[in-house]
Amino acid sequence: MASTNGDGFSDQSSEKLSCPCCGSRLVLGRAANESVLRPDQDARYLPAAAGTVFIDPHAHMISRTTDDYEAMARAGVVAVIEPSFWVGQPRTSLGSYVDYLSTILGFEKFRAGQFGIRHYCCIGLNPKEANNEALAEAVFEVLPQFAVKESVVALGELGYDEQTPLEDKYLRKQIDLAKELDLPIMIHTPHRDKRRGTLRTMDVLAEHGFDPARCVMDHNTEETVREVLDRGYFPGFSIYPHTKMGNERLTDIVRQYGPERIIANSACDWGVSDPLAVPKTAVLMAERGIAADAIRKVTYANALAVYGLFGAINEADWMDPAPIDQRSLFQGNSVLRGGQTPRIEAPRRSMDDLRIA
Ligand SMILES: [Zn+2]
Ligand SMILES: [Zn+2]
Repeated sequence: MASTNGDGFSDQSSEKLSCPCCGSRLVLGRAANESVLRPDQDARYLPAAAGTVFIDPHAHMISRTTDDYEAMARAGVVAVIEPSFWVGQPRTSLGSYVDYLSTILGFEKFRAGQFGIRHYCCIGLNPKEANNEALAEAVFEVLPQFAVKESVVALGELGYDEQTPLEDKYLRKQIDLAKELDLPIMIHTPHRDKRRGTLRTMDVLAEHGFDPARCVMDHNTEETVREVLDRGYFPGFSIYPHTKMGNERLTDIVRQYGPERIIANSACDWGVSDPLAVPKTAVLMAERGIAADAIRKVTYANALAVYGLFGAINEADWMDPAPIDQRSLFQGNSVLRGGQTPRIEAPRRSMDDLRIA
């Protein structure tokens, strides 16, 4: 469609072109009676070598909307990992915990698939609710039956919140359970007293002989990253909007420490968070001159390496995906409402789909 800019440039191309050197998008148009190629200003694109696919390995999609799923798929997110967590207010019975775990393993996985995104889970008792001992004990008893479901990639989020004795007790019990089931672990490091809580968690993991190469320590900052890397863990970084750990600072960390084992995630949930944090981080890193191969590690390959250890998550799941068919039902229900047209698509993903608004 032709459009004219203020400076007389008129966009005459119906299709976007890729720059052969860097892969950035170009628009063909005319200015002052000459054909001109200009960078496409409508959206930001990644150099092709950085990849066209992202994994968001920490996303509480149960709290997000179908618009979020659509935007993530459009931006190139092919897979999400949903860790079990606290839902904003304490659960009072085992039944509500069981239903929650069943929902993230069942309906949420179905819902993600209706938008072309693969969905995996980490199963666990979160540290906040470990402080209700009767509930914690009952949840711990049912965890093994959920942990063996097909889309489970790890136990998580485990760790400390206020670092109480009960949190310590259930962290240790779940580390032993992960060892028994041969599952990796996703650790939630505490937001308060972060450094002490992070070091203590790694000490406890070491005491139980848990292999750091099978463990993600999540929610890192500059004050924890060096030790987490030195001890052989995968450090996760949750990119929350308007906070210290914005993607600017992760770019500096990658520049300083290199990309090995570093993992970006959105940790999006019911709070102020951004489900596009991972692709946006990739774009910013590209703009700041981080090498394409490093971006790919931080936003895709490192997460696949550690969460793929158990074999439940596999590149073939999205490289050779099932088609989207929104006529599908989950226990008799679809994601559509009154008269909406279902999307039915053959699987397809190309650089031209990747658009981060
Ligand atoms: Zn967390
Ligand atoms: Zn979380």
